[in-house]
Amino acid sequence: MTLRDEELERYARHIVLPQVGGVGQNKLKAAKVAVVGAGAIGSAVIPALAGAGIGELTIIDDDSVELGNLHRQPLFRERDIGYSKADLALQFVQRLNRFVKAAPVQERIERENAARLLGGHDLVIDGSDNFATRLGVSDTCVELGIPLISAAAVQFQGQVGLFRSKPCYRCFVGDAFDADDCDNCAELGVLGALTATVGSFAALLAINTIIGIGEHGAGKIHLFDGEQLAWREIRIPADPSCRACGSA
Ligand SMILES: [Zn+2]
Repeated sequence: MTLRDEELERYARHIVLPQVGGVGQNKLKAAKVAVVGAGAIGSAVIPALAGAGIGELTIIDDDSVELGNLHRQPLFRERDIGYSKADLALQFVQRLNRFVKAAPVQERIERENAARLLGGHDLVIDGSDNFATRLGVSDTCVELGIPLISAAAVQFQGQVGLFRSKPCYRCFVGDAFDADDCDNCAELGVLGALTATVGSFAALLAINTIIGIGEHGAGKIHLFDGEQLAWREIRIPADPSCRACGSA
């Protein structure tokens, strides 16, 4: 895979970085990434990945834009209310970078369709807004052996983790939330600038992971406290009895 002259100019400030170079930029171009959720986290992740030159982006979201989304979802504008988020995200990517192949998927991701929707991707970034979806996406990534970056934000708290099959996201949260969207930010509230911070962190982690920059051992959760403005990380032990990645 070679970069054309226009791409060399477009990505010049990436390519000049010794950690990226032409080799790293080509890795981004070769990557096929699925983004689950074109909401608040997706509003940070999708522009960052499209701008960075990820070769193929699949954007999975069955929702339409509502007025109450606009404070934290800068992909959308007032005139977009009522229209498909996945389609609008596609239009955004097409306007930003014609070298990115983007595919919108207007389906709600469930256990039944997750393997079909996520199969064939090199990396999945989950920015969905409820535990049931996040657990289903995680279980499918474990089954398919796809690395997963799971990102979430509620109130003033954010979390981002990279998982490579074991330990998995289910080891972190357990089984209690499978049928429950108790963390839904409609009820609890969330600060728009927080979701942008967490989403941008997830995008940076994705780019570093694809290129191989830094030491990002999987199975860590990065926690952000939006009141104290501080990140800390915790290591997730693999749960031997985990339904997804355990040996039982
Ligand atoms: Zn597990």
